[in-house]
Amino acid sequence: MRFYLTTPIYYVNATPHIGNAYTTAIGDMLVRHRRQQGADTFYLTGVDEHATKVWRVAEEQGLEAQEYADRISVPWRELPQRLNADIDFFIRTSDEGHKRFVRDFLQRMYDNGDVYQDVYAGLYCVGCEAFKTEEELTPDGLCPDHLVPPEWIEEKNWFFRLSAYQERLLALYDERPELVRPDFRYNEARSFIAGGLRDFSISRAGQPWGIPLPWDESQVTYVWADALVNYLSALTYAQEGEDLRDRYWPAVHHLLAKDILRFHCVYWPAMLLSAGYEPPQQLFVHGYLLLDERKISKSLGNAVDPLELIDVYGADPVRYWMARAISFGQDGSASVDGIRARYDNELANDLGNLLSRTTAMVARYRSGSLKRGEAEPPLDLAALGADVSGRLEQFDVTGALDAVWEGVRALNQYVTAEAPWQLAKDESKAAQLDGVLYNLVDGLTALAVALAPFLPETAPRILAALAQDGDLSWERIRNGVAAEVEGIAAAEPLFPRIELTAGAA
Ligand SMILES: [Zn+2]
Repeated sequence: MRFYLTTPIYYVNATPHIGNAYTTAIGDMLVRHRRQQGADTFYLTGVDEHATKVWRVAEEQGLEAQEYADRISVPWRELPQRLNADIDFFIRTSDEGHKRFVRDFLQRMYDNGDVYQDVYAGLYCVGCEAFKTEEELTPDGLCPDHLVPPEWIEEKNWFFRLSAYQERLLALYDERPELVRPDFRYNEARSFIAGGLRDFSISRAGQPWGIPLPWDESQVTYVWADALVNYLSALTYAQEGEDLRDRYWPAVHHLLAKDILRFHCVYWPAMLLSAGYEPPQQLFVHGYLLLDERKISKSLGNAVDPLELIDVYGADPVRYWMARAISFGQDGSASVDGIRARYDNELANDLGNLLSRTTAMVARYRSGSLKRGEAEPPLDLAALGADVSGRLEQFDVTGALDAVWEGVRALNQYVTAEAPWQLAKDESKAAQLDGVLYNLVDGLTALAVALAPFLPETAPRILAALAQDGDLSWERIRNGVAAEVEGIAAAEPLFPRIELTAGAA
Protein backbone atom coordinates (compact mmCIF):
# COMPACT_ATOMS: atom_id res chain seq x y z
CA MET A 1 0.00 0.00 0.00
CA ARG A 2 1.48 3.32 -1.09
CA PHE A 3 0.30 6.78 -0.30
CA TYR A 4 1.99 9.86 -1.68
CA LEU A 5 0.43 13.16 -0.61
CA THR A 6 1.27 16.68 -1.71
CA THR A 7 0.29 20.17 -0.63
CA PRO A 8 0.43 22.92 -3.21
CA ILE A 9 3.75 24.67 -3.22
CA TYR A 10 3.24 28.07 -1.68
CA TYR A 11 4.32 31.45 -3.04
CA VAL A 12 7.27 32.69 -1.05
CA ASN A 13 6.48 36.33 -1.59
CA ALA A 14 4.29 36.57 1.52
CA THR A 15 4.60 35.10 4.98
CA PRO A 16 2.73 31.86 5.75
CA HIS A 17 -0.91 32.47 6.56
CA ILE A 18 -3.48 30.33 8.27
CA GLY A 19 -4.70 28.82 4.98
CA ASN A 20 -1.25 27.41 4.16
CA ALA A 21 -0.89 26.05 7.67
CA TYR A 22 -4.36 24.52 7.34
CA THR A 23 -3.52 22.50 4.22
CA THR A 24 -0.13 21.43 5.57
CA ALA A 25 -1.56 20.31 8.94
CA ILE A 26 -4.53 18.43 7.47
CA GLY A 27 -2.26 16.71 4.96
CA ASP A 28 -0.05 15.57 7.78
CA MET A 29 -3.06 14.01 9.54
CA LEU A 30 -3.92 12.00 6.43
CA VAL A 31 -0.36 10.81 5.93
CA ARG A 32 0.20 9.88 9.57
CA HIS A 33 -2.96 7.79 9.53
CA ARG A 34 -1.85 5.84 6.45
CA ARG A 35 1.52 5.27 8.06
CA GLN A 36 -0.19 3.87 11.17
CA GLN A 37 -1.92 1.42 8.85
CA GLY A 38 1.43 0.27 7.54
CA ALA A 39 1.38 2.13 4.21
CA ASP A 40 4.56 3.24 2.50
CA THR A 41 4.01 7.01 2.62
CA PHE A 42 5.62 10.12 1.22
CA TYR A 43 4.58 13.66 2.12
CA LEU A 44 5.72 16.59 0.02
CA THR A 45 5.37 20.32 0.51
CA GLY A 46 7.45 23.30 -0.51
CA VAL A 47 7.61 26.69 -2.14
CA ASP A 48 7.17 28.25 -5.54
CA GLU A 49 9.96 30.76 -5.93
CA HIS A 50 9.77 31.70 -9.59
CA ALA A 51 7.08 34.34 -9.26
CA THR A 52 7.47 37.59 -11.13
CA LYS A 53 6.97 39.38 -7.83
CA VAL A 54 10.04 37.73 -6.29
CA TRP A 55 12.22 39.03 -9.05
CA ARG A 56 10.65 42.51 -8.93
CA VAL A 57 10.98 42.92 -5.19
CA ALA A 58 14.54 41.53 -5.23
CA GLU A 59 15.43 44.12 -7.83
CA GLU A 60 13.86 46.91 -5.78
CA GLN A 61 15.95 45.83 -2.82
CA GLY A 62 19.10 45.52 -4.91
CA LEU A 63 19.41 41.76 -4.36
CA GLU A 64 19.90 38.76 -6.57
CA ALA A 65 16.57 36.97 -6.97
CA GLN A 66 18.05 33.75 -5.56
CA GLU A 67 19.44 35.55 -2.55
CA TYR A 68 16.08 37.16 -1.89
CA ALA A 69 14.27 33.81 -2.36
CA ASP A 70 16.66 32.14 0.08
CA ARG A 71 15.82 34.78 2.62
CA ILE A 72 12.04 34.74 2.30
CA SER A 73 11.74 30.97 2.14
CA VAL A 74 12.96 30.62 5.73
CA PRO A 75 9.57 30.93 7.51
CA TRP A 76 8.13 28.53 4.94
CA ARG A 77 10.69 25.88 5.74
CA GLU A 78 9.88 26.38 9.40
CA LEU A 79 6.13 26.03 8.94
CA PRO A 80 5.81 22.22 8.66
CA GLN A 81 8.22 21.70 11.51
CA ARG A 82 6.39 24.12 13.77
CA LEU A 83 3.08 22.45 12.91
CA ASN A 84 4.47 19.01 13.80
CA ALA A 85 3.96 18.07 10.17
CA ASP A 86 6.25 15.17 9.40
CA ILE A 87 7.19 15.89 5.81
CA ASP A 88 9.50 13.74 3.71
CA PHE A 89 10.78 16.50 1.48
CA PHE A 90 10.57 20.27 1.17
CA ILE A 91 10.86 21.29 -2.45
CA ARG A 92 11.96 24.67 -3.76
CA THR A 93 11.45 25.39 -7.44
CA SER A 94 14.93 26.91 -7.53
CA ASP A 95 16.42 23.47 -6.66
CA GLU A 96 18.77 22.26 -9.38
CA GLY A 97 17.00 18.90 -9.44
CA HIS A 98 13.65 20.54 -10.08
CA LYS A 99 14.98 22.84 -12.81
CA ARG A 100 16.63 19.93 -14.59
CA PHE A 101 13.46 17.85 -14.46
CA VAL A 102 11.16 20.65 -15.64
CA ARG A 103 13.30 21.13 -18.75
CA ASP A 104 13.12 17.43 -19.47
CA PHE A 105 9.36 17.36 -18.85
CA LEU A 106 8.69 20.33 -21.14
CA GLN A 107 10.95 18.89 -23.82
CA ARG A 108 8.80 15.75 -23.83
CA MET A 109 5.66 17.87 -24.32
CA TYR A 110 7.45 19.74 -27.10
CA ASP A 111 8.63 16.55 -28.79
CA ASN A 112 5.09 15.27 -28.62
CA GLY A 113 3.98 18.18 -30.79
CA ASP A 114 1.91 19.83 -28.07
CA VAL A 115 3.84 23.10 -27.85
CA TYR A 116 3.72 25.94 -30.37
CA GLN A 117 4.61 29.60 -30.57
CA ASP A 118 2.05 32.38 -30.74
CA VAL A 119 1.54 35.95 -29.74
CA TYR A 120 -0.15 36.43 -26.46
CA ALA A 121 -1.95 39.63 -25.72
CA GLY A 122 -4.03 39.96 -22.66
CA LEU A 123 -4.57 41.16 -19.15
CA TYR A 124 -2.28 39.62 -16.61
CA CYS A 125 -2.55 39.74 -12.82
CA VAL A 126 0.89 39.44 -11.26
CA GLY A 127 -0.68 38.51 -7.91
CA CYS A 128 -2.50 35.53 -9.44
CA GLU A 129 0.27 34.81 -11.93
CA ALA A 130 -2.53 34.30 -14.42
CA PHE A 131 -4.07 35.89 -17.46
CA LYS A 132 -7.54 37.28 -16.88
CA THR A 133 -10.49 37.66 -19.18
CA GLU A 134 -12.62 40.80 -18.97
CA GLU A 135 -15.47 38.78 -17.45
CA GLU A 136 -13.25 37.64 -14.59
CA LEU A 137 -12.57 41.20 -13.44
CA THR A 138 -14.61 43.36 -11.09
CA PRO A 139 -16.84 46.08 -12.62
CA ASP A 140 -13.94 48.49 -12.02
CA GLY A 141 -11.61 46.27 -14.01
CA LEU A 142 -9.69 44.93 -11.02
CA CYS A 143 -8.59 41.39 -10.20
CA PRO A 144 -11.29 40.19 -7.78
CA ASP A 145 -8.71 38.45 -5.59
CA HIS A 146 -6.10 41.19 -5.44
CA LEU A 147 -8.15 44.31 -6.16
CA VAL A 148 -5.44 45.69 -8.41
CA PRO A 149 -5.71 46.40 -12.13
CA PRO A 150 -4.15 43.67 -14.27
CA GLU A 151 -1.32 44.60 -16.63
CA TRP A 152 -1.64 44.52 -20.40
CA ILE A 153 0.89 42.09 -21.77
CA GLU A 154 1.66 41.45 -25.42
CA GLU A 155 4.46 39.10 -26.28
CA LYS A 156 5.49 36.05 -28.22
CA ASN A 157 5.07 33.00 -26.00
CA TRP A 158 5.05 29.25 -26.19
CA PHE A 159 1.66 27.63 -25.77
CA PHE A 160 0.53 24.21 -24.65
CA ARG A 161 -2.16 22.66 -26.82
CA LEU A 162 -4.58 22.01 -23.97
CA SER A 163 -7.52 22.08 -26.40
CA ALA A 164 -6.23 18.85 -27.94
CA TYR A 165 -6.76 17.08 -24.62
CA GLN A 166 -10.44 17.78 -24.08
CA GLU A 167 -11.65 14.36 -25.18
CA ARG A 168 -8.96 12.48 -23.30
CA LEU A 169 -9.65 14.44 -20.15
CA LEU A 170 -13.39 13.81 -20.37
CA ALA A 171 -12.70 10.09 -20.88
CA LEU A 172 -10.41 10.14 -17.85
CA TYR A 173 -13.09 11.82 -15.73
CA ASP A 174 -15.77 9.38 -16.90
CA GLU A 175 -13.53 6.40 -16.23
CA ARG A 176 -12.57 7.62 -12.77
CA PRO A 177 -15.42 9.19 -10.84
CA GLU A 178 -13.15 9.38 -7.79
CA LEU A 179 -10.47 11.39 -9.58
CA VAL A 180 -11.54 14.65 -7.99
CA ARG A 181 -13.13 14.83 -4.55
CA PRO A 182 -15.56 15.98 -3.20
CA ASP A 183 -18.22 15.31 -5.82
CA PHE A 184 -19.19 18.91 -6.40
CA ARG A 185 -15.59 19.75 -7.24
CA TYR A 186 -15.45 16.82 -9.65
CA ASN A 187 -18.52 18.26 -11.38
CA GLU A 188 -17.01 21.75 -11.44
CA ALA A 189 -13.81 20.50 -13.07
CA ARG A 190 -15.63 18.24 -15.52
CA SER A 191 -17.96 20.99 -16.69
CA PHE A 192 -15.02 23.32 -17.15
CA ILE A 193 -13.47 20.72 -19.49
CA ALA A 194 -16.76 20.03 -21.24
CA GLY A 195 -17.18 23.78 -21.84
CA GLY A 196 -14.15 23.78 -24.15
CA LEU A 197 -10.48 24.26 -23.37
CA ARG A 198 -8.24 27.08 -24.43
CA ASP A 199 -4.53 26.56 -25.01
CA PHE A 200 -2.43 28.30 -22.43
CA SER A 201 0.90 30.02 -22.37
CA ILE A 202 3.70 28.11 -20.69
CA SER A 203 6.44 30.71 -21.04
CA ARG A 204 7.25 34.34 -20.49
CA ALA A 205 9.71 36.50 -22.40
CA GLY A 206 12.13 39.06 -21.05
CA GLN A 207 12.53 37.67 -17.57
CA PRO A 208 15.79 36.53 -16.05
CA TRP A 209 14.14 34.66 -13.14
CA GLY A 210 12.80 31.23 -13.96
CA ILE A 211 13.64 28.04 -15.80
CA PRO A 212 14.73 28.66 -19.41
CA LEU A 213 12.89 26.56 -21.99
CA PRO A 214 15.22 23.88 -23.36
CA TRP A 215 14.46 24.77 -27.01
CA ASP A 216 14.27 28.56 -26.54
CA GLU A 217 16.52 29.94 -23.81
CA SER A 218 15.18 33.45 -24.32
CA GLN A 219 11.98 32.42 -22.54
CA VAL A 220 11.43 31.14 -19.03
CA THR A 221 8.80 28.66 -17.95
CA TYR A 222 5.57 30.33 -16.91
CA VAL A 223 4.64 29.78 -13.28
CA TRP A 224 2.12 26.92 -13.54
CA ALA A 225 4.08 24.88 -16.05
CA ASP A 226 7.00 25.14 -13.66
CA ALA A 227 5.15 24.78 -10.34
CA LEU A 228 2.86 21.84 -11.06
CA VAL A 229 5.76 19.72 -12.22
CA ASN A 230 7.18 19.79 -8.67
CA TYR A 231 4.93 16.88 -7.70
CA LEU A 232 6.90 14.67 -10.04
CA SER A 233 10.31 16.33 -10.06
CA ALA A 234 10.69 15.97 -6.27
CA LEU A 235 10.60 12.18 -6.61
CA THR A 236 13.65 12.23 -8.84
CA TYR A 237 16.01 13.87 -6.35
CA ALA A 238 14.41 13.89 -2.86
CA GLN A 239 16.33 10.76 -1.96
CA GLU A 240 19.89 10.73 -3.05
CA GLY A 241 20.70 7.87 -5.37
CA GLU A 242 17.08 6.72 -5.67
CA ASP A 243 14.41 7.61 -8.19
CA LEU A 244 11.15 7.42 -6.28
CA ARG A 245 8.91 7.73 -9.32
CA ASP A 246 8.46 3.96 -9.64
CA ARG A 247 7.52 3.74 -6.01
CA TYR A 248 5.09 6.64 -5.67
CA TRP A 249 3.79 7.61 -9.09
CA PRO A 250 0.87 7.57 -9.84
CA ALA A 251 -0.10 6.69 -6.24
CA VAL A 252 -0.33 10.40 -5.60
CA HIS A 253 -3.06 12.42 -3.92
CA HIS A 254 -2.95 16.18 -4.37
CA LEU A 255 -4.45 18.43 -1.71
CA LEU A 256 -5.41 21.89 -2.88
CA ALA A 257 -7.67 24.81 -2.10
CA LYS A 258 -10.48 25.57 -4.51
CA ASP A 259 -8.87 28.67 -6.08
CA ILE A 260 -6.34 26.51 -7.93
CA LEU A 261 -8.76 23.79 -9.03
CA ARG A 262 -8.49 24.52 -12.74
CA PHE A 263 -4.69 24.33 -12.81
CA HIS A 264 -4.60 21.06 -10.89
CA CYS A 265 -7.65 19.25 -12.16
CA VAL A 266 -7.41 20.26 -15.81
CA TYR A 267 -3.99 21.61 -16.84
CA TRP A 268 -1.94 19.18 -14.81
CA PRO A 269 -3.47 15.85 -15.97
CA ALA A 270 -3.23 17.10 -19.56
CA MET A 271 0.42 18.08 -19.13
CA LEU A 272 1.15 14.66 -17.65
CA LEU A 273 -0.53 12.86 -20.54
CA SER A 274 1.43 15.00 -22.96
CA ALA A 275 4.75 14.20 -21.29
CA GLY A 276 3.90 10.50 -21.13
CA TYR A 277 3.01 10.11 -17.46
CA GLU A 278 -0.02 8.67 -15.71
CA PRO A 279 -2.43 11.25 -14.30
CA PRO A 280 -2.59 11.46 -10.49
CA GLN A 281 -4.68 8.98 -8.58
CA GLN A 282 -6.75 11.62 -6.84
CA LEU A 283 -7.14 15.33 -6.24
CA PHE A 284 -8.86 16.56 -3.13
CA VAL A 285 -10.13 20.14 -3.30
CA HIS A 286 -10.87 21.84 -0.02
CA GLY A 287 -12.53 25.11 0.90
CA TYR A 288 -11.15 28.03 2.83
CA LEU A 289 -10.78 28.31 6.54
CA LEU A 290 -12.18 31.81 6.78
CA LEU A 291 -11.55 33.80 9.87
CA ASP A 292 -13.98 36.13 11.49
CA GLU A 293 -13.14 39.80 11.59
CA ARG A 294 -12.89 40.29 15.29
CA LYS A 295 -9.95 42.07 16.71
CA ILE A 296 -6.97 39.88 16.35
CA SER A 297 -3.74 40.09 18.27
CA LYS A 298 -1.12 37.89 19.77
CA SER A 299 -1.91 39.03 23.31
CA LEU A 300 -5.53 37.94 22.87
CA GLY A 301 -4.31 34.54 21.73
CA ASN A 302 -6.09 34.87 18.41
CA ALA A 303 -3.34 35.92 16.01
CA VAL A 304 -3.85 35.02 12.37
CA ASP A 305 -0.19 34.29 11.93
CA PRO A 306 -0.16 30.50 12.39
CA LEU A 307 3.31 30.61 13.92
CA GLU A 308 2.09 33.05 16.56
CA LEU A 309 -0.91 30.85 17.33
CA ILE A 310 1.48 27.94 17.81
CA ASP A 311 3.61 30.08 20.13
CA VAL A 312 0.60 30.61 22.36
CA TYR A 313 -1.16 27.23 22.26
CA GLY A 314 1.32 24.73 20.91
CA ALA A 315 1.09 22.84 17.62
CA ASP A 316 -1.32 20.10 18.68
CA PRO A 317 -4.09 22.44 19.88
CA VAL A 318 -3.80 24.51 16.68
CA ARG A 319 -4.05 21.34 14.58
CA TYR A 320 -7.00 20.16 16.64
CA TRP A 321 -8.81 23.46 16.16
CA MET A 322 -8.16 23.47 12.40
CA ALA A 323 -9.53 19.96 11.96
CA ARG A 324 -12.61 20.65 14.04
CA ALA A 325 -13.43 24.31 13.44
CA ILE A 326 -14.95 23.81 9.99
CA SER A 327 -15.84 20.71 8.03
CA PHE A 328 -12.82 19.87 5.88
CA GLY A 329 -13.76 20.06 2.21
CA GLN A 330 -16.36 22.80 2.70
CA ASP A 331 -15.90 26.51 3.18
CA GLY A 332 -16.38 27.60 6.70
CA SER A 333 -15.95 30.56 8.90
CA ALA A 334 -14.16 30.04 12.15
CA SER A 335 -13.31 32.25 15.02
CA VAL A 336 -9.75 32.29 16.22
CA ASP A 337 -11.24 32.86 19.65
CA GLY A 338 -12.75 29.41 19.28
CA ILE A 339 -9.31 27.91 19.72
CA ARG A 340 -9.32 29.06 23.33
CA ALA A 341 -12.71 27.46 24.03
CA ARG A 342 -11.67 24.20 22.40
CA TYR A 343 -8.43 24.20 24.32
CA ASP A 344 -10.18 24.67 27.67
CA ASN A 345 -13.36 22.63 27.15
CA GLU A 346 -12.28 19.82 24.92
CA LEU A 347 -8.53 19.29 25.16
CA ALA A 348 -7.93 20.24 28.80
CA ASN A 349 -11.30 19.16 30.14
CA ASP A 350 -12.71 16.26 28.08
CA LEU A 351 -9.38 14.61 27.32
CA GLY A 352 -6.89 15.99 29.83
CA ASN A 353 -9.13 15.47 32.84
CA LEU A 354 -10.10 11.99 31.70
CA LEU A 355 -6.43 11.01 31.73
CA SER A 356 -5.78 12.75 35.05
CA ARG A 357 -8.76 11.10 36.76
CA THR A 358 -8.03 7.67 35.33
CA THR A 359 -4.38 7.63 36.33
CA ALA A 360 -5.14 9.19 39.73
CA MET A 361 -7.71 6.47 40.47
CA VAL A 362 -5.40 3.63 39.44
CA ALA A 363 -2.68 5.17 41.62
CA ARG A 364 -4.97 5.74 44.56
CA TYR A 365 -7.16 2.62 44.59
CA ARG A 366 -4.69 0.12 43.16
CA SER A 367 -1.28 1.58 44.01
CA GLY A 368 -0.65 2.06 40.31
CA SER A 369 -1.21 -1.55 39.28
CA LEU A 370 -3.55 -2.39 36.42
CA LYS A 371 -5.48 -5.71 36.34
CA ARG A 372 -8.04 -6.84 33.79
CA GLY A 373 -10.73 -7.49 36.41
CA GLU A 374 -14.37 -7.99 35.46
CA ALA A 375 -16.45 -5.32 33.74
CA GLU A 376 -18.07 -4.87 30.36
CA PRO A 377 -16.22 -2.32 28.20
CA PRO A 378 -18.26 0.78 27.33
CA LEU A 379 -17.02 0.99 23.74
CA ASP A 380 -16.44 -1.33 20.81
CA LEU A 381 -12.98 0.04 20.08
CA ALA A 382 -12.36 -1.90 16.87
CA ALA A 383 -15.60 -0.51 15.44
CA LEU A 384 -14.53 3.00 16.44
CA GLY A 385 -11.13 2.49 14.78
CA ALA A 386 -12.78 1.25 11.58
CA ASP A 387 -15.17 4.21 11.56
CA VAL A 388 -12.38 6.76 12.03
CA SER A 389 -10.21 5.05 9.47
CA GLY A 390 -12.99 4.90 6.89
CA ARG A 391 -13.59 8.61 7.28
CA LEU A 392 -9.91 9.50 6.97
CA GLU A 393 -9.65 7.45 3.79
CA GLN A 394 -12.45 9.62 2.40
CA PHE A 395 -10.52 12.74 3.52
CA ASP A 396 -13.28 13.41 6.06
CA VAL A 397 -10.84 14.69 8.63
CA THR A 398 -13.45 16.58 10.61
CA GLY A 399 -15.84 13.63 10.77
CA ALA A 400 -12.99 11.35 11.84
CA LEU A 401 -12.00 13.61 14.71
CA ASP A 402 -15.66 13.99 15.75
CA ALA A 403 -15.91 10.19 15.94
CA VAL A 404 -12.80 9.97 18.15
CA TRP A 405 -14.22 12.68 20.36
CA GLU A 406 -17.47 10.75 20.78
CA GLY A 407 -15.25 8.03 22.23
CA VAL A 408 -13.61 10.48 24.63
CA ARG A 409 -17.05 11.62 25.80
CA ALA A 410 -18.29 8.04 26.15
CA LEU A 411 -15.38 7.26 28.49
CA ASN A 412 -16.17 10.34 30.56
CA GLN A 413 -19.77 9.17 30.87
CA TYR A 414 -18.51 5.74 31.84
CA VAL A 415 -16.57 7.22 34.75
CA THR A 416 -19.70 9.00 35.97
CA ALA A 417 -21.93 5.94 35.52
CA GLU A 418 -19.57 3.43 37.16
CA ALA A 419 -18.41 5.78 39.94
CA PRO A 420 -15.17 3.95 40.80
CA TRP A 421 -14.95 5.95 44.06
CA GLN A 422 -18.09 4.10 45.22
CA LEU A 423 -16.80 0.70 44.08
CA ALA A 424 -13.57 1.39 45.99
CA LYS A 425 -15.51 1.50 49.26
CA ASP A 426 -16.85 -2.02 48.81
CA GLU A 427 -14.30 -4.85 49.07
CA SER A 428 -16.74 -7.30 47.40
CA LYS A 429 -16.59 -5.16 44.22
CA ALA A 430 -12.79 -5.34 43.87
CA ALA A 431 -12.89 -7.27 40.58
CA GLN A 432 -15.42 -4.84 39.15
CA LEU A 433 -13.30 -1.86 40.19
CA ASP A 434 -10.30 -3.47 38.49
CA GLY A 435 -12.40 -4.03 35.39
CA VAL A 436 -13.68 -0.47 35.24
CA LEU A 437 -10.19 0.99 35.68
CA TYR A 438 -8.87 -1.41 33.07
CA ASN A 439 -11.57 -0.38 30.58
CA LEU A 440 -10.67 3.25 31.10
CA VAL A 441 -6.97 2.66 30.50
CA ASP A 442 -7.74 0.34 27.60
CA GLY A 443 -10.11 2.89 26.05
CA LEU A 444 -7.63 5.73 26.51
CA THR A 445 -4.88 3.60 24.96
CA ALA A 446 -6.98 3.03 21.84
CA LEU A 447 -8.07 6.67 21.70
CA ALA A 448 -4.45 7.82 21.98
CA VAL A 449 -3.60 5.73 18.91
CA ALA A 450 -6.65 7.11 17.08
CA LEU A 451 -5.68 10.67 18.07
CA ALA A 452 -2.07 10.32 16.94
CA PRO A 453 -2.71 11.69 13.41
CA PHE A 454 -4.31 14.82 14.89
CA LEU A 455 -2.26 15.23 18.07
CA PRO A 456 1.12 13.67 17.28
CA GLU A 457 2.84 15.20 20.29
CA THR A 458 0.08 14.40 22.78
CA ALA A 459 -0.68 10.78 21.84
CA PRO A 460 2.70 9.37 23.01
CA ARG A 461 2.36 11.35 26.24
CA ILE A 462 -0.98 9.68 26.94
CA LEU A 463 0.47 6.22 26.31
CA ALA A 464 3.46 6.98 28.53
CA ALA A 465 1.20 8.21 31.36
CA LEU A 466 -0.72 4.92 31.12
CA ALA A 467 2.56 2.96 31.15
CA GLN A 468 1.55 1.43 27.81
CA ASP A 469 3.58 0.54 24.74
CA GLY A 470 4.21 3.56 22.49
CA ASP A 471 3.38 1.56 19.35
CA LEU A 472 0.94 3.62 17.25
CA SER A 473 -0.12 0.87 14.82
CA TRP A 474 -3.74 1.34 13.87
CA GLU A 475 -4.52 -2.34 14.55
CA ARG A 476 -4.05 -1.61 18.25
CA ILE A 477 -7.38 0.16 18.29
CA ARG A 478 -9.41 -2.71 19.77
CA ASN A 479 -10.57 -3.90 23.15
CA GLY A 480 -8.14 -5.64 25.46
CA VAL A 481 -4.93 -4.21 24.01
CA ALA A 482 -3.79 -2.45 27.19
CA ALA A 483 -1.22 -4.49 29.08
CA GLU A 484 -1.55 -5.26 32.78
CA VAL A 485 1.15 -3.01 34.19
CA GLU A 486 2.51 -1.65 37.43
CA GLY A 487 3.54 1.87 38.28
CA ILE A 488 0.78 4.06 36.87
CA ALA A 489 1.07 7.41 38.64
CA ALA A 490 -1.25 10.41 38.64
CA ALA A 491 -0.48 12.15 35.33
CA GLU A 492 0.62 15.73 34.89
CA PRO A 493 -2.04 17.85 33.10
CA LEU A 494 -1.91 17.19 29.35
CA PHE A 495 -3.01 20.72 28.53
CA PRO A 496 -2.06 23.10 31.33
CA ARG A 497 -4.02 26.29 31.77
CA ILE A 498 -2.81 29.09 29.54
CA GLU A 499 -2.65 32.60 30.95
CA LEU A 500 -3.04 35.19 28.25
CA THR A 501 -1.82 38.72 28.81
CA ALA A 502 -5.08 40.44 28.07
CA GLY A 503 -5.17 44.04 26.99
CA ALA A 504 -1.54 44.24 25.92
CA ALA A 505 -2.56 44.65 22.28
ZN1 LIG B 1 -5.01 38.59 -8.91
